[in-house]
Amino acid sequence: MTPRFFTVAALATLSACTYPYAPPALPPVTRPAPPSSYAAAAEQRAPVTILISIDGFRPDYLDRGVTPNLSRLAAAGVSAAMRPSFPSKTFPNHWTLVTGVVPDRHGITANSMEDPARPGETFTMATDDPFWWNAAEPIWVTAERAGIRTATMFWPGSNVAWGGTRASVWPYETTGGMRPHDWQQYAEPVDDRQRVDSIIDWLRRPAATRPQFLTLYFEEVDTAGHRFGPGDPRTTQAVAHADAAIGRLTAELAALGQPANLVIVSDHGMAPTDSRRTIALDRVVPATDARVVEAGPYATLTPLPGRDAAVAAALLRPHPHMQCWRSRQLPARFRYGSNSRIPPYLCLAEDGAGGAWTIAKTAPTAQRSDGAHGFDNDAPDMRALFIASGPAFRAGRKLPTFDNTDVAPLLRDLLGLPAGQGLDGSDRPFRAALIAGPQARTLPHGS
Ligand code: AMP
Ligand code: ZN
Ligand code: ZN
Repeated sequence: MTPRFFTVAALATLSACTYPYAPPALPPVTRPAPPSSYAAAAEQRAPVTILISIDGFRPDYLDRGVTPNLSRLAAAGVSAAMRPSFPSKTFPNHWTLVTGVVPDRHGITANSMEDPARPGETFTMATDDPFWWNAAEPIWVTAERAGIRTATMFWPGSNVAWGGTRASVWPYETTGGMRPHDWQQYAEPVDDRQRVDSIIDWLRRPAATRPQFLTLYFEEVDTAGHRFGPGDPRTTQAVAHADAAIGRLTAELAALGQPANLVIVSDHGMAPTDSRRTIALDRVVPATDARVVEAGPYATLTPLPGRDAAVAAALLRPHPHMQCWRSRQLPARFRYGSNSRIPPYLCLAEDGAGGAWTIAKTAPTAQRSDGAHGFDNDAPDMRALFIASGPAFRAGRKLPTFDNTDVAPLLRDLLGLPAGQGLDGSDRPFRAALIAGPQARTLPHGS
């Protein structure tokens, strides 16, 4: 059960001293106060909650000596190496982080997928038809319904009219559905500074229209990890760059006098890959027997008509550096395989001490060393970042590894929302690390 943090008396006291806006009298003859303390003195702001994703940030990147801001936040708050959900890919995990439900149930089962109910259609990272997203409610919809204003500076699915319906004929109009009150269409060229500035600009609004739950997203660490591999100095440079953006955000929040509970996560880690460690699928099962839907750290396949027995015989036997299952018979710990969007066969490449393997349709023609994710979600390389810091969190708590399905229940606590029904995670890992009380939380407007 989620603890309820606010008594009616406490809410009344807080709203009485916060709203309406009443600037205190300034001392008569003094030097003008610097803008930051002036803003802080002018208004006692209630805490906001900011969920930040640094895509592909492996928790051990914090040990590279280039993350003064993230390390400071971890020391001042709560941190952990978090277990992503399977598959350890971007869209499935971002949707889990904001719904508290595993990909098999929330329906974003892959970055690229098909649905038997939509023959001929493929979901990609650009798909905003609510059909694909509607199985689990994101926290910004729950929050908006509870009177908590939300704003997203990028997050997979935040551009979707959640709960709505898209017409199947031109002009494919969408009816109904909810988005965050403010949201931005994802655009990679918008740089870190602009993303942070957008958050701060939203927070400059008067209290009545100011967002109380915000998201922020950075892709650069993932991009560098893929291109150069997790161990490369250029990936470390991207880590330093992302850390600087977090530093800018915390400095601007301080200047604004805006208390915030920051929940900083990643969606998955990154493993070193090399073309010399490739499994060529066409040498295991011929292209005349199965269609490869996805390939990479894991591959999914659909047998061609009449070829299931041949595909089963080819795949369901031991293979070096790879194991295959019928998707419906995946080991229970993956919590994956029952959704109709998952093709009938799944093969998973090894991510072991000798480096990770990759599954490709055919043998690579060029040599390359890089990075990838999508492996076993319990592999050490796939661990994800978790740092939570702000007035709701006790200092210096390093938590044992927990599942990323627990993040949405934590966010609900921070927003004073009731515990969700039928979620796959809970706030249990954080309970001892949370400080109760209205001064620590986000409150709905007008409360
Ligand atoms: P992955 O292929 O799993 O490594 O996905 C990472 C990529 O997802 C990033 O490089 C981004 O370009 C892309 N991405 C992240 N957020 C969004 C979004 N909201 N919409 C579209 N693409 C996104
Ligand atoms: Zn990612
Ligand atoms: Zn990636």
